[in-house]
Amino acid sequence: MQGKLRQIITNDRVYTIADQLILTIEFGMATQSSVDLAKNVKRGLTSKAEKGFKPGLPNLGYKCDFTGEKGKKAVFVDEERFPLLRKMVDMMLTGLYTVPQIINIMNEQYHFITPKGIKLQNSTAYKIFTNPFYYGEFEYGGVWYKGSHTPLMPPEEYDKIQLILGRKGKPRPKTHDFAFTGVIKCDCGAMITATEKQRLLTSGGIKDHVYYHCTGRKVGVTCAQKKKGATVEYIELTALDLMNNLDIPQEYIDWAEKYIKDNVAEDRKLIESQLNKLQKDYEVVVTRLNSLIDLKVNNPDILTDEEFRERKVKYTKEKDKILSAINELNENQNKGADEVIDVLNFWSKARRRFEYGDIQTKREIFARLGSKFLLKDKKTHYRPGRNGLRVEK
Ligand SMILES: [Zn+2]
Repeated sequence: MQGKLRQIITNDRVYTIADQLILTIEFGMATQSSVDLAKNVKRGLTSKAEKGFKPGLPNLGYKCDFTGEKGKKAVFVDEERFPLLRKMVDMMLTGLYTVPQIINIMNEQYHFITPKGIKLQNSTAYKIFTNPFYYGEFEYGGVWYKGSHTPLMPPEEYDKIQLILGRKGKPRPKTHDFAFTGVIKCDCGAMITATEKQRLLTSGGIKDHVYYHCTGRKVGVTCAQKKKGATVEYIELTALDLMNNLDIPQEYIDWAEKYIKDNVAEDRKLIESQLNKLQKDYEVVVTRLNSLIDLKVNNPDILTDEEFRERKVKYTKEKDKILSAINELNENQNKGADEVIDVLNFWSKARRRFEYGDIQTKREIFARLGSKFLLKDKKTHYRPGRNGLRVEK
């Protein structure tokens, strides 16, 4: 057990619970960024792409489904050409052939002809080796989709081919896979981007390095951090470290829930009595205002116009003041204890979810930790902000 929960401090209340650990949770946390994220993903979805079918003309090696119902058309393998394309991939993977040599073999030995009736060209061959569609993914409207078509090769083979192609290769686009690009800033104020570098190991395997670094795109600023990026492992460790302090046992959450609910019940009693008093004040001032008007109407000479106006303004101001006090109290009453409990529940499981979760989960948790992560000297520095989560031991 890392510590005991002592206080939960929200914007308008302090809940004192146990010793050792003070947990400060401020509402309006970076939850908005995760909501926005979900919206962006949804906006990019079109039903066809969502089902895994790349809109547009079929790629070489595949056929259009002419008979399928509109909106439900599948992508079929071109039985005539697909096996030949696969042969090209196999040749490429041996590392013994150049692309022109492979083209030559396809055209001369296998008499490869595209559906348009022409021989295999240089540019077409390169597309086979460098288009993500052939390992099963495609981009549409700025969003990456997993295709439902039969891939020509698995991603690992695609990666290997890119390394063999060297400068002409197109490393697998992975920008959609980086968890922390939107939530860390460089010390210079620019946004952070990530790069995946791959190395061919002597064993034949491939090692990935994900590296976060400055975009250098802050106008008028020369960044001193350009070569001081951080590895993804380091960034994840920073986040996990922060959450070490948030290991809140379930029994404390249950305890806190009961405590807060009792507290809220007492608050409610207090609020109700305050509301009653305000209600009476309101009635008094309304009566006074009405009497004043009656008086002026029935006996115009008792008060001068000036005196009448002064009193009227005074009572009206009082009335408005009481009304806004009533509204404020009503709003506070509706600020739920449930929200506090939700936040506690979220953080009590956040560390484990971060450790084992997918990229989306990691990004959401990271964003909620606070929007003030700075990248400086190969390290991420956490600065709890107004909208962040603060943990004090
Ligand atoms: Zn920078």
